[in-house]
Amino acid sequence: MTARVPARGPEGCTDPAWHVEVDQDQCIGSGMCVALLPKRFVLPGDAARVLPGAADGVPDEALLDAADSCPALAITVTDRATGRIVGPRP
Ligand code: SF4
Repeated sequence: MTARVPARGPEGCTDPAWHVEVDQDQCIGSGMCVALLPKRFVLPGDAARVLPGAADGVPDEALLDAADSCPALAITVTDRATGRIVGPRP
């Protein structure tokens, strides 16, 4: 029997089922995502970025809230297993 090696992800994450990206061309730099989730997003200039190591993580309601709250719909959350877009929600 082979031991399952946990995938790498944010601190404490052993099952990085979701992936988040910010579309640099779509982002208008409102800073909403940084205010909601400063551990995942940063706004170094005109567009937000996902912090290094924070792109993959366990399913997270707060991440969906950030995607839903983005005024430019620039945040996309994807289920890595299925490829389905889970955020922003319709
Ligand atoms: S909330 Fe959306 S538009 Fe605002 S900084 Fe984040 S990604 Fe950019």
